Amino acid sequence: MHKERHNNLELGIRLTPRSPLLIKSSGISPNPSLPDMQFVRTFVKGIETIYIPGASLKGVFRSYVEKILRTKKGIDGACDIFDKGKTCAKETEKELPGNEIYKNSCLACKMFGSTKLKSRISFIDAYPSGEIKTETRYGVAISRLTHAVAQGPFDMEVAVSGSFNSKIYLENFELWQLGALALAIRGLNDGLIRIGFGKNRGFGEVAVNIETIQFTFSSELPEKEICGIGKIVSEDAANKYGLVGNDIIIIESNPSKTENEIIYTKREYSPKSWEEISNKAISQLKGILS
Ligand SMILES: [Zn+2]
Repeated sequence: MHKERHNNLELGIRLTPRSPLLIKSSGISPNPSLPDMQFVRTFVKGIETIYIPGASLKGVFRSYVEKILRTKKGIDGACDIFDKGKTCAKETEKELPGNEIYKNSCLACKMFGSTKLKSRISFIDAYPSGEIKTETRYGVAISRLTHAVAQGPFDMEVAVSGSFNSKIYLENFELWQLGALALAIRGLNDGLIRIGFGKNRGFGEVAVNIETIQFTFSSELPEKEICGIGKIVSEDAANKYGLVGNDIIIIESNPSKTENEIIYTKREYSPKSWEEISNKAISQLKGILS
């Protein structure tokens, strides 16, 4: 069932640092003019640029969502992947079918994947849109024990202005997963989640702007409905995978563009619809956590 695509969200986002931002590179650049702690770099069309790896974003979103799920549902909400007895990716004597693996996984693994399960959410690397201003900051690490300088001084390359564009994809999703994504975006905007290095120095606060919202569904849908996968597949398949059954929200905002074909429906919404979509999807999340 999950080899086919039943629903999909493509969310275009813009990330703007509100405090110094440093996503640390693990390698050392051959360029001696760069600071000790450098921003991670890659090449885009032959030009070297700093960027935010999609994997870093995914890690930040996952840990925030896990915290919420674990608080409400314990290890059924988010298992402990480091504890062999408490992870839903533990080895079993014989390989279970895909639907059993999904059904038996904790909510966090259902959304972000595990060694046994494909992630429903993916993050594209975030590249600068226009110019990013970087500065060098100096830091030392203070020993908690002696209150003396334990390490440093070292210099850090931080991004201080400009913005990065990225895309988030949710595929074959249940609406509570859309709710969890919306909640994490709120967490970033509210400063509850920071990204990168130096969170205790006040680094890593970013604003997230929603730029584009595009849903695709594998069937024709009534005009105002946005559906989770459990509503789109057969009732039998929904039961086999343990999906939320009648997974629907009704959206009052009108799409800015609609394509209705026999085999799919595509809808784009303007960024101002995100608030309504978020609120309704977060209600679905609350529903499964209550
Ligand atoms: Zn798990």
